[in-house]
Amino acid sequence: MFFYLKPRLMEVSTETRMQQMTGRRLVVFPLPLQGHINPMLQLANILHSRGFNITVIHTQYNSLNPSKYPHFTFRPISDGLLETPPSTERGRDLLTLLNVNCVAPFRDCLAQLLSSVSEEPIACLITDAIWHFTQAVADGLKLPRLVLHSGNISFLAFAVHPFLRETGFLPKQDSQTEEPVEALPPLKIKDFPTMDIANPEDDLYMLIDGMVKANKGSSGFIWNSFKELEQPALATLRRRSIVPLFPIGPFHKYFPASSSSLLAQDPSSISWLDTQSPKSVIYVSFGSLATFDETEFLEMAWGLANSMQPFLWVVRPGLIPGSEWLEPLRNGFLEAVSGRGHIVKWAPQQEVLAHPATGGFWTHSGWNSTLESICEGVPMICSPRSNNQMVSARYASDVWRVGVQLENGLERVDVERAIRKLMVESEGEEMRERIMCLKEKADLCLREGGSSYQSLESLVNYIFSF
Ligand code: UDP
Repeated sequence: MFFYLKPRLMEVSTETRMQQMTGRRLVVFPLPLQGHINPMLQLANILHSRGFNITVIHTQYNSLNPSKYPHFTFRPISDGLLETPPSTERGRDLLTLLNVNCVAPFRDCLAQLLSSVSEEPIACLITDAIWHFTQAVADGLKLPRLVLHSGNISFLAFAVHPFLRETGFLPKQDSQTEEPVEALPPLKIKDFPTMDIANPEDDLYMLIDGMVKANKGSSGFIWNSFKELEQPALATLRRRSIVPLFPIGPFHKYFPASSSSLLAQDPSSISWLDTQSPKSVIYVSFGSLATFDETEFLEMAWGLANSMQPFLWVVRPGLIPGSEWLEPLRNGFLEAVSGRGHIVKWAPQQEVLAHPATGGFWTHSGWNSTLESICEGVPMICSPRSNNQMVSARYASDVWRVGVQLENGLERVDVERAIRKLMVESEGEEMRERIMCLKEKADLCLREGGSSYQSLESLVNYIFSF
């Protein structure tokens, strides 16, 4: 057994329990990153549509806009980042710092909400899995905590790290090693995020360790995924977990993510797609955080140009550290792709993936992007950059067989070959057929009687039982 979740022991007075049973307010606490804000606000909308009132506690960093959610109540808390800015605003150190800085403001805010006589009783707290400090706060205030996993099976991979260490896998860890992890097929050692396990101060190790320990004390896990997509992993988790698991996704099929977008979505993405032939365009986007150095960026650009396929490319400001936007694209690139390529800073991704002209998605394999692509039946080229993306990419290429993985860096010839394989060769057509089957399963799981539909029913009943 590689991990085991103990039952949560709650000492709740009869009076408090009576109050909680009638409570219909939920407090949610999203992690302030795009790929985590979207699923948490979608989940809040889903639960609101099931009759719950929602209070959102949020940080000042990537602060949310309450006017987009007039049906929710918002409580901002101080995150201390102005006083102690992290060295890189978006990395692991940001998450570590937030997990320290937010403890007191979050606890005070939650305690105030709990003691407020003007609010209806709070049934439970729902926080992102990465907010590991919130379990101790919830325990201290005797409030059940549900954990939202914004990722997929990767959590399982994270959670088994202690096992991997005990059995001697991790000391051998080398980001390039192809060695399979026998306990977790088809994952390879290189699919795990690199961390210095010999160093107890390693940010990522501490974050994952904190998350795994805190989640053991929670009242249940919610997943933005669906049973049919991740059946073996869920079965494994169910065998090892005695807290309930609720795979109720894909969330964005209930509510799109556009309202929680932190960046303005460029509508020309859609008007440009309208001018293209069906399934002819490769959509290229690497989410909200990934970065590339200039050499990689130019290899990508020339791979796209040489593939001769139409493309819609999201070049987010910040994608190439040190560049404002498109300055590295000198030497005739823009002229070479004129009329065949369209570049934007941020796209309405779900609409792009649903557009008839979109035939492929070159992605960093963030979980939201992966799920959104599956739900629209768009096969992928996977260029995972970090953390759980390697696991999503491995599943896309080796398990679901709906994607090509660029495993050996970003050389223009490999990029060109992968694009042509996906967009014009029979292998790509086979991937499209397979991903269409997954899309159908995603559609079915949300219908009455489907797996996610039933799981959501169970979740709602479970929350009422607190
Ligand atoms: N997204 C978007 N426009 C873009 C790129 C991404 O709206 O141009 C959205 C995308 O639909 C997804 C989220 O941003 O919901 C990115 O989440 P993901 O987990 O894929 O990646 P992350 O940003 O967390 O690395």
